[in-house]
Amino acid sequence: MKAAETRILELRAELDLHNYRYHVLDEPSIPDVEYDRLFHELKALEAENPHLVTPDSPTQRVGSAALSAFTQVRHEIPMLSLGNAFEETDMHEFDRRVTEGLDLPNDGLFAEKVEYSCEPKLDGLAVSLLYQNGALVRGATRGDGTTGEDISVNVRTVRNIPLKLHGEGWPETLEVRGEVFMSKAGFDRLNESQLEVGGKTFANPRNAAAGSLRQLDSKITANRPLEFCCYGIGQVSHDISDTHIGNLKQLKAWGMPISRELKAAAGIEDCLKYYHDIGERRLSLPYEIDGVVFKVNSIAAQRELGFRAREPRWAIAHKFPAMEELTELLDVEFQVGRTGAVTPVARLKPVKVAGVTVANATLHNMDEVARLGLMIGDTVIIRRAGDVIPQVVQVVLERRPDNARKVEIPQTCPVCGSQVERTQLIKRSKGKETVSEGAVYRCVGRLACGAQLKQAIIHYVSRRAMDIEGLGDKTIEQLVDEKLIGSPADLYKLEYDQIIELEGFADISSKKLLKAIDDSKTPTLARFIYALGIPDVGEETAKVLARSLGSLDKVKVALPEVLTYLPDIGLEVAHEIHSFFEDDHNQNVIGALLGECKMQLQDTGDLGAEFAASATLGGMLDKLNIPSIGPGGAQKLADKFGTLEGVVKADWLDMRQTLPEKQAQSVRAFFDVPENAERALKIEQQLKDFGMHWQNEKKVVEGLPLTGQTWVLTGSLELMSRDVAKEKLESLGAKVSGSVSAKTHTVVAGPGAGSKLTKANELGLKVLDEEAFVAFLKQHDISVE
Ligand code: NAD
Repeated sequence: MKAAETRILELRAELDLHNYRYHVLDEPSIPDVEYDRLFHELKALEAENPHLVTPDSPTQRVGSAALSAFTQVRHEIPMLSLGNAFEETDMHEFDRRVTEGLDLPNDGLFAEKVEYSCEPKLDGLAVSLLYQNGALVRGATRGDGTTGEDISVNVRTVRNIPLKLHGEGWPETLEVRGEVFMSKAGFDRLNESQLEVGGKTFANPRNAAAGSLRQLDSKITANRPLEFCCYGIGQVSHDISDTHIGNLKQLKAWGMPISRELKAAAGIEDCLKYYHDIGERRLSLPYEIDGVVFKVNSIAAQRELGFRAREPRWAIAHKFPAMEELTELLDVEFQVGRTGAVTPVARLKPVKVAGVTVANATLHNMDEVARLGLMIGDTVIIRRAGDVIPQVVQVVLERRPDNARKVEIPQTCPVCGSQVERTQLIKRSKGKETVSEGAVYRCVGRLACGAQLKQAIIHYVSRRAMDIEGLGDKTIEQLVDEKLIGSPADLYKLEYDQIIELEGFADISSKKLLKAIDDSKTPTLARFIYALGIPDVGEETAKVLARSLGSLDKVKVALPEVLTYLPDIGLEVAHEIHSFFEDDHNQNVIGALLGECKMQLQDTGDLGAEFAASATLGGMLDKLNIPSIGPGGAQKLADKFGTLEGVVKADWLDMRQTLPEKQAQSVRAFFDVPENAERALKIEQQLKDFGMHWQNEKKVVEGLPLTGQTWVLTGSLELMSRDVAKEKLESLGAKVSGSVSAKTHTVVAGPGAGSKLTKANELGLKVLDEEAFVAFLKQHDISVE
């Protein structure tokens, strides 16, 4: 007995602390499952020892006291918690209690089914909104259920909370209750932007929503992507409907957001079906839910059933398996990727998270390790979100063992033993480039590193790159391990006798592979650039490079500054591209591909019309980042002097007539530094070599046939894949978009086209079927194999 009493006191103290962290600080240190385990241990001990139950036990109370920094609000009708069900038997037990409580016949022929309402249990925080005569007058948190915090200013910033109710007939006093939450996408965006500004990131959307709403500065709340979903009413001056669902539907008509998933269920079996249906869709819902809430639908029945200490008797939360768990970080290993990035990976003590055993988690980079304050031996919270690889979101500091070890980046590559170096971040401002340390470490071994070589080849042959079918990851590993290939160029030297010796290959498959390799010798320039695997150059950037510069020769020599003239290419990516082509090894591989391997790139050779037209002297001067010169000042210089040389050599008087003294001095000081003048002239020379002319030299630029047009592809195409169709349209200068609008020029609709086609017809847009599309391409000399 003594032991039980001691444990009860321990558990109460621990749960009180976690309640305070969760409900008041919005910074829980353990995942909900762990809290629930402790809570249930306490509940079971109290059930065995009813004389030890006290009114201040966490099992008898709701939430935690309101924070004194906010004005306090008394809830006329307490805001309670919910009872939990984890197993189906708990649900049957709940239904039995309800049936008995309502005195309904519960077995045999006359058994009566209770009607329940079903709603997803959104994971955010409970909020009460008070409307007087249809106007929002107060918003409050739940607090300890009786006293909450006044957050009126903050709730007004939540965009889908109506400040005035729509329609008419609302009760004079109406208290609406619901959950403020953050969607998964909003949460990802918030954390990304917090990382960018070095701010605090949140472990999950619930903490983010709670932390964002309970802000003393409502401007912060206003910038957070919060949403509201109403699930009930509190104080009300007259009844609205005699059912819970009726209440919610009426509130919806008055402009209140309610769940789209709201449904009625006849009896508990129907509830369980609903639970399984939502459970299957849980990962694809746009917001996080931690269970389903079932409520007796009849308001009269709810009143009859009443409440227990901390929860209503007429409702229950049927919880889903938790997406967060506790486990131990056994070790951190380092993996080497395609671009040589050495990435830390967490090796975890295997643990089941929502039915899946997790033993590894991504750690992204060493900055993330530092941000988490992670040490080997730590107890960590891991989280599964969607189907992506689980993440370590938090360290439970109070459980750190004495022998915890620091995570250190290896000095040499774990695969090839080459040096591991920290990448650099290049930024330019006020005419100066500054270099700082990047988050990524890289093995400098390049293709001499087995791991990078394998990944590089896997990327090179992939569908969106050179699309060589029949070369799986395992085969590539074998080819590299047996030293049959040392670069992508070696693929083209493979012979039948070598291939047939590989695991899983026979006569036909070997011949097929040889043909697939041979067929890949005439790629578009964009595919080829993408296939090279230049760090930070994805498909879109590769397309921009190909479309704008038109030939590999130009891409190879383009100066970083010139590359920044291209759409969406920043200085860092520009440097990556430039240094990739400066590298001897890369030059040799490209030389071999185009030489010995006889690869022929399909390119236009010409500068893209958009790019050529974008070059203005003003724009170029602006990009030089001359201190105190913005786009306006740069344009004035361009208009006055007409050529870069004119600006560089301009005399003081002319300069003063063009710009205010401070700016004029700045331009002179900038070009008086010989390297600045040389660099600027070099950039101009390259642009001219590429065939560009400053617009004030009146060069007429001819556009591609579809420049400025937006096309949409919908339905299935039979003669080519959508990717190929997109590529062809882009080669003619069109932009290909995923959605139809009044700005769409033409829609290509294959069989099975749905809402996009309907919309196109409604808008009266031009629509082509596949046959007409192919004919159109032919008119523009584009063939379709
Ligand atoms: P709860 O979250 O289990 O259930 C009650 C709450 O559900 C309501 O207040 C409401 O906000 C919400 N809800 C969502 N959808 C609803 C709907 N359709 N209808 C009615 N309510 C709906 O209980 P609680 O008392 O808010 O919190 C307890 C839970 O919080 C625990 O089970 C635990 O998971 C978590 N918690 C975690 C820690 C921690 O340290 N990690 C600490 C305290 C509490």
